[in-house]
Amino acid sequence: MNLIFLGAPGAGKGTQAEVVSEALKIPQISTGNILREAAKNGTEYGLKAKAAMDAGALVSDDIVIGILKERIAEEDCREGFILDGFPRTVPQAEALDAMGIKIDKVIEINVADETIKQRVSGRRVCQGCGASYHIEYKPSKTEGVCDKCGDKTVIRKDDQPEVVLERLATYHEKTAPLKDYYEKQGKLVTVEGQEEVADTSKLTLAAVGVE
Ligand code: AMP
Repeated sequence: MNLIFLGAPGAGKGTQAEVVSEALKIPQISTGNILREAAKNGTEYGLKAKAAMDAGALVSDDIVIGILKERIAEEDCREGFILDGFPRTVPQAEALDAMGIKIDKVIEINVADETIKQRVSGRRVCQGCGASYHIEYKPSKTEGVCDKCGDKTVIRKDDQPEVVLERLATYHEKTAPLKDYYEKQGKLVTVEGQEEVADTSKLTLAAVGVE
């Protein structure tokens, strides 16, 4: 099964993609995590991407499409994969279609902008493995320490309030049109984000057909 998770920054698409990844035993591919890792390692494209990410803008389609092509060619994607944060523009979606990749479902996690603005300040991410937490809704077992790898959890630079506003504007302008794109293909399923992560997970698992 090949799935796409769509949603505004902070809507919880990464968290839900992780739940489905564990349930279906298929990898979760987060272009944001791949780009953050590249930026941390100072690779050429990582440094280019960093400037856009820090400003709340999108990284160029060429760079992201290249990254994605390489990643889904890997062995672990043979039985399916979950795209978390890709595509984010119509040209990226068209590139995926042009690659001959068949997408089964596109799950949109819908959360109001006002809720997102409140929530994002509590988000933390592991600086080692990229795992995502929230101090209130999805805390790590020990505060500030990643459950998965033991490294430190930190606030993402692009989760500062001014950058979040920019990212939301970018989402509405560039990414939201994908809802129409996939609606027309009959693949869009909208899940209303709930206050409790576990409640959203139930709805998400039902949407992909896992009970
Ligand atoms: P995320 O972790 O999904 O919120 O992504 C963090 C940042 O990485 C975004 O704000 C963009 O700057 C960049 N990014 C991630 N995925 C993409 C994509 N598919 N296209 C363009 N930029 C992306």
